[in-house]
Order: sequence, then structure tokens, then C-alpha cells
Amino acid sequence: MKIQLTNTLTRRKEPFVPADPARVTMYVCGPTVYSYAHIGNMRPPVVFDVLFRLLRHVYGEKAVLYARNYTDIDDRIINAAIESRQPIGAITAEFERAYEADTAALGVLAPTFKPRATEHVAGMIALIEKLIAQGAAYKVATGVYFSVSADADYGKLSGRAQEDMQAGARVEGEDDKRHPSDFALWKAAKPGEPQWEAPFGAGRPGWHIECSAMIEAELGSPIDIHGGGIDLIFPHHENEIAQSESAHNHPLARLWMHNGFLTMDTTKMSKSLGNVITPRELLSHGWQGETLRWALLSAHYKAPLDFNEDMMRAAQASLDRLYGAVLRLKDLEAADVEPPKAFIEALADDLNTPEAIAELYALATAANIAKKPADQAKAKGELLAAAKLFGVLQDDPEHWFRASFGEAAAEIDKLVAERVAARAAKNYAESDRLRDELAARGVEVMDNASSSTWRRKG
Ligand code: AMP
Ligand code: ZN
Repeated sequence: MKIQLTNTLTRRKEPFVPADPARVTMYVCGPTVYSYAHIGNMRPPVVFDVLFRLLRHVYGEKAVLYARNYTDIDDRIINAAIESRQPIGAITAEFERAYEADTAALGVLAPTFKPRATEHVAGMIALIEKLIAQGAAYKVATGVYFSVSADADYGKLSGRAQEDMQAGARVEGEDDKRHPSDFALWKAAKPGEPQWEAPFGAGRPGWHIECSAMIEAELGSPIDIHGGGIDLIFPHHENEIAQSESAHNHPLARLWMHNGFLTMDTTKMSKSLGNVITPRELLSHGWQGETLRWALLSAHYKAPLDFNEDMMRAAQASLDRLYGAVLRLKDLEAADVEPPKAFIEALADDLNTPEAIAELYALATAANIAKKPADQAKAKGELLAAAKLFGVLQDDPEHWFRASFGEAAAEIDKLVAERVAARAAKNYAESDRLRDELAARGVEVMDNASSSTWRRKG
């Protein structure tokens, strides 16, 4: 199976060839844990979860090493701690837990490694010392900076020229750096802020050096794939490249991938703009995690995706169709089969999730129209295998349909049971009345020979 992925570095779709197929490495920049993640923040973990699953399918589960970090030291965390009068560790622990819960609700598998920045400060210090010794970094009163003029190919990922990068590069408190594009590797200690001892003075790491050090510690470079949201290309990933490649003299990552933004009314969802919805808000309104996952995968990962309620309704209807097909065949054991080739090929083509969704639909249709038990078992098996790789249909189908009805589900059960009794008593008028009442509640009853189940009406 040949995987093709778009490489931000070359701006082309390329065949993916890991350096060592027995040890495929991927790193994705994780969250800064100072508040709840919004659903835009969920796009990278979900998109790269699909890639993780695909890589594991192709290279074997044990062969793929995936690291996603927690940034647990940062200005925003320090400010959140001051504002809430809580210790920094309490803030980061709370929002790390919340992120774990949110991603789990969206069916995101745990990455192989989940390093925390504060556990890798020694590696960051070593990297900075190396850069200072090489003349690629320098120390001034406010901290240690990377010198972009020491790096001939600085700007290669974002394709920016040095001159363009000067605008907006001014950062408060960094007045003594030599060039406007130079960036902080180490911020000199300030009273009341967390600090670590270092040969170049006490302080705390800058954001970019954290990822460079964690990649080195967990995976070693070059890694096969480095991912993140499109807003990380510059300056974050550009700076990771500058530091790591200056220090090690080989590429940091062989392939760079970036997901597009989740927008609302075409504006990027972001905490600073305040136009955010959190996954926990959607769950508390009765939406299921898989529905949000499906919605986030309904567009190609590189494209922007404009979020609205219609998108959630469409995602739920699509999943209903898939769950409905499984529910119809609930008494039949699924054949133990691989996901079909066409489905894998869709994902292998630069993670074409809309095409993969079309294949899932086709598999549900095949399951619905199959007549012979052997064909039904195969169709059900193929649908479940493909869905597993996509991270959906992980719920029990009856539970899936009940869950979004909340407390009304028990009442629906009662009406369905009454209808079964009416039918048994050959009271067809009552049975029809109950069917209409259930229909009015958005429920469709599915009668088997001996019992009845129900689902949301399509
Ligand atoms: P942040 O907490 O802002 O550092 O973002 C964490 C991750 O979410 C990064 O990979 C960002 O690129 C990504 N991200 C932030 N906002 C969005 C958005 N609206 N759509 C897609 N990805 C986003
Ligand atoms: Zn990073």
C-alpha cells in the first residue's frame, strides 16, 4: 500500500517512505494547557489520529511511534495561574485531564508518547548550550536568542524572505535582541515566575525549543512526519527547524503536514477572538463525540472547514445510516475481514477523508442490500473494519440511538414495549397508533420476528 502525503516543505504531494518501516515516527504539536480546548483545537488530534491509525494498519501497530506533547510552561499558563490564584501545576493538571477527556470522547487513540515540556528542560538547556557554542545563539540581559542570520536557509518551510519576517516580529520585553526576527530560546528569570537553573542564567524555555527537545528525547531526528495546524508553520515550525537543524546538521523532519482552520462564519475559531465552542459544550447538548469527529473529518484536512449546526446534523444522519446498517444485522456475526481496498486507498491518497466517507456509505449500502447471510456477514465485517480504522462505529448501535435521546429513551422503550404487546394481542389499531406516536418523536421502529428495536428516523 503506497501512502501519498502533501509535504508543506516541498509544497507537493509525495510518496511517503519512512526511513525505517519498522520504526515510523510522527510528532504533532499538542496543546498549551491553560484552558479548555475548542473544537478547532480538536482538528489536529483528530486528523493525525486518522493518519496514526492508517500508519499502524500499513506498518503494524508496534512499528509506529507517535508523540504529542503538552506545553505546560508558557506566558498564558502563568497568567491563568495568577488570575485564578492557583498554582501553575494545578492549572496544567486540570486542563491536561480535560484535553485527555475531550480527545477520548472524539475517539482519538492515545499517542505512544505524551511528553510534558517541564519534564524535558534539561534537554532544552543542552540544545541551547550547543547552539551558543556554535555561534547560532547569543545571550543578552532578557534571555538567550537564536540568531536567524546564522541560519542560511531560515524561512524555507514558510517560504518567507528574511525581510518579510521583520514586520510584526517585535515582542515586548525583547528589546535587546540583535535582529527583529531572532527568537527567544530562553527567557531570563523574572521574580515570581517559574525558573530553572542553567549555565547561561536562570530562566525558562521559549515555546519553540520545547518541541525540538521533546522530539529529540522521545523519537530522535530526523523524524518521518511532523504535523500541526497551519498557523504553526510560521513562526513555530520554522523556528523548530532552525534550532534543530543548526544543532544536529540533519533535517528535523522529512515530511511536514498542516491542517487547515476550523472557522465559524469564515472566521478562524480562536480563543483570542472569543468565537469558540468547546467539545464539552456540544456533548452537554446531547451530541455524541463520534458526530463531532465525523464532522471534523468531513472536509479534506488541508481545506478550511466552516462549522455550524447543520454540519453536526448531517454528520449525525450519516452515522445513523451506518449504525442503522449494523443494527439491522445485529443478530448476525460479522465476518473477520480487512477494511476494503478502496477505503484504504482513499485514506492513503493524502488522507482523503471525504472520499473515505463515501466508501463507508457504499459499505453501509452493501450491508443493507445483501440478502444471503454469508454476504451480509462479509458486508457487516467490511463496514466495521473500515469504520474502526476511521475511529467510528465504536458504540453499540442500540446505545448509539438511545444516547442522543437522553431521558426520553426510557419512555420510548416503554412505547415500543406497549406496541409489541399490542401486536401480540393483534390489536392493530393500537399498534398503529403507537407507531405514529413514536414517529412523531422522531423514532422508527424496526420489527424482527420476536422483538422490536428502534432508531432515530432518517
Ligand atoms: P493553540 O492552543 O492555539 O496553541 O492551538 C493548539 C493546536 O490547535 C495547534 O496545532 C493549532 O494549529 C490548532 N488550532 C488552533 N485553532 C485552530 C482552528 N481554528 N482550526 C484548526 N486548528 C486550530
Ligand atoms: Zn511544536
